Amino acid sequence: MQRISHWVNNKVVAGTSGNTGKVYNPATGEQQSEVDLASIAEVDAVIAAAKKAGLEWRSSNLSRRAEIMFRFRELVVANKNELANVLSLEHGKVPSDAMGEISRGIENVEFACGIPALLKGGYSEQASSGVDVYSIRQPLGVVAGITPFNFPAMVPMWMFANAIMCGNTFVLKPSEKDPSAPMFIAELLRQAGLPDGVFNVVHGDKIAVDRILSHPDIASVSFVGSTPIAKYVYETGTKNGKRVQALGGAKNHMLVLPDADLDMAADAAVSAAFGSAGERCMAISVVLAVDTIADELVEKLKTRVPKIKVGPGTDPTAEMGPLITREHRDKVASYITNANSEGANVVIDGTDKAKDAGFFLNPSLIDKVKPGMKCYDEEIFGPVLTVMRVKSYQEGLDTINSNQFGNGTAIFTRDGGVARQFQFDVQVGMVGINVPIPVPVSYYSFGGWKASLFGDQHMYGPEGINFFTRGKVVTSRWPDPRTSKIDLGFPSAR
Ligand code: NAD
Repeated sequence: MQRISHWVNNKVVAGTSGNTGKVYNPATGEQQSEVDLASIAEVDAVIAAAKKAGLEWRSSNLSRRAEIMFRFRELVVANKNELANVLSLEHGKVPSDAMGEISRGIENVEFACGIPALLKGGYSEQASSGVDVYSIRQPLGVVAGITPFNFPAMVPMWMFANAIMCGNTFVLKPSEKDPSAPMFIAELLRQAGLPDGVFNVVHGDKIAVDRILSHPDIASVSFVGSTPIAKYVYETGTKNGKRVQALGGAKNHMLVLPDADLDMAADAAVSAAFGSAGERCMAISVVLAVDTIADELVEKLKTRVPKIKVGPGTDPTAEMGPLITREHRDKVASYITNANSEGANVVIDGTDKAKDAGFFLNPSLIDKVKPGMKCYDEEIFGPVLTVMRVKSYQEGLDTINSNQFGNGTAIFTRDGGVARQFQFDVQVGMVGINVPIPVPVSYYSFGGWKASLFGDQHMYGPEGINFFTRGKVVTSRWPDPRTSKIDLGFPSAR
């Protein structure tokens, strides 16, 4: 059986803990490899390697760093088919989805290539007589990333591209469910010329995460995953004095107003709900349909959903792949199975597909959901689109704002004034106007509100640069020593 080990100092390092995790091919349901799970001592060794590499890396010049990132970008582009294949084999992504993930990851790499401009500070000449003041940004040291299963290539790129370009060294603890993509990326970074120890991968479970959160040499932790773990990572990491950004789960609503083009809205809802089998933190999981158009919209969804072609990532025509594990598939299926008894109306039940050996479900559609039902209150993270009927724009807005999550949302309307009001009023971090998955481009930052983000800084883009650096302000003067005198007053500029 293939074994997936750690990546330290630009080499594969076999685990010694004796603990391993099982990695499945979700399309067949078979175990295809095992991944080493690190002990505390192994995590310490990886952090020590990153710390050692940091001494030289933080002194490297910006042009050299950017050159390596440019080369890495070229290598990712040249190897994107192979990387997509790695994603398909362990995550189950269909080709279009795997390629989309890679291309959104590349955007973050391209942003980080601009590091010489991004790290420019400010300068104020003559802030006081003969005194100049300027600001610089410096790296934090060893920084860690802990990532989820659903974007095994892109989410690490959200983090490490900016982190290492800012002069930090990086320790990645990826999801143990699909750990190969980060190893593939590590090899490309090596080929791009990244020095030993600047980017490292340690595979592991809670033991590794807890060690990262308590290790004195870890300066910051970037986390993406479910809300309970994000909260835990934020609370534990900050208690231990670390800078933490922890992105959590989601329940994204799409509000469809009566003036919207309903065919376009139905196409958008189906694309955003079932892409990547709904295992996206920006997936649309609830359509809020205003009563007057609700029946018509549900009819349109009903004709579209069964046409989605479900199949393995090896099938170039497949539009939707399997879920990540059998347990997760069964949990998602339980929301569908229980929905009728909660008072909702299961319009399309995709659980028949759960009989397959792979971890598949067919797309499902549930109408008439309400707060208080499990299929509404909880993040499903699977191929289930729910519809809630609302009386008005205001009721739709109130529903979104009373939800515990605030990651993404969308409004579909032809009325610019209402869309502008929605953008103003909605308590969500990423808003789409006739755009169902409003993942910000890499030169803005990504992050939700409320239970979708713990911490102050969003991920990647300008906030990513802030997160991975510390500011320093220098006040300087070069006076004639003959003018020197003692003055116990508080220094003032006037
Ligand atoms: P998860 O929370 O189970 O795992 C995320 C990471 O935390 C993994 O590396 C895992 O090994 C680690 N982990 C798991 N349990 C832990 C524990 N008890 N203690 C310490 N560490 C632990 O999430 P997942 O299932 O891999 O990913 C799906 C979740 O991620 C969904 O909730 C989804 O919404 C969320 N997500 C959010 C975003 C976002 O940007 N907000 C993006 C992608 C995914």
